[in-house]
Amino acid sequence: MDIIINREHFSFFILKNLTAPCPQCGIPACGREDFFWYNEAEKRMTLVLDGSYLDLIIQNYLNNSLEKTTYTPLPKFLRESNECIGWSEADDFRGTEIDIDDLLASIELINQFVPENWLKEITAEYTSELSAICNHAKRFNSKLFLARS
Ligand SMILES: [Zn+2]
Repeated sequence: MDIIINREHFSFFILKNLTAPCPQCGIPACGREDFFWYNEAEKRMTLVLDGSYLDLIIQNYLNNSLEKTTYTPLPKFLRESNECIGWSEADDFRGTEIDIDDLLASIELINQFVPENWLKEITAEYTSELSAICNHAKRFNSKLFLARS
């Protein structure tokens, strides 16, 4: 998949794409795609997911678990999403680096919590694909990057 922004060319090798065309406008994820990638031999090995779902999964976790946990020791990935800063605004296709261990810690927390019924399946799929790409990045000694469209 090629993306061109301001005449700059970005090629992504898509390992998996979890987005579906929006039933209203027909555009995948209604244009809110998240690209997570690591580099393998100069190639961006990429997981594409629906950014709205990822935001919902995190919000659902935070809304329902915060009575039992304290906010400040939460992983950065969860806090930045909640505060709409950092990665949650990462729209540069050159990539924003994501701390892999921090993301894995976030996934572990989310998985300790049972989400509302309608989000169960999506949460399971998203957390499992995200941890898979974290582990691939580690295996290839690559950093993990993100861009949100
Ligand atoms: Zn739409």
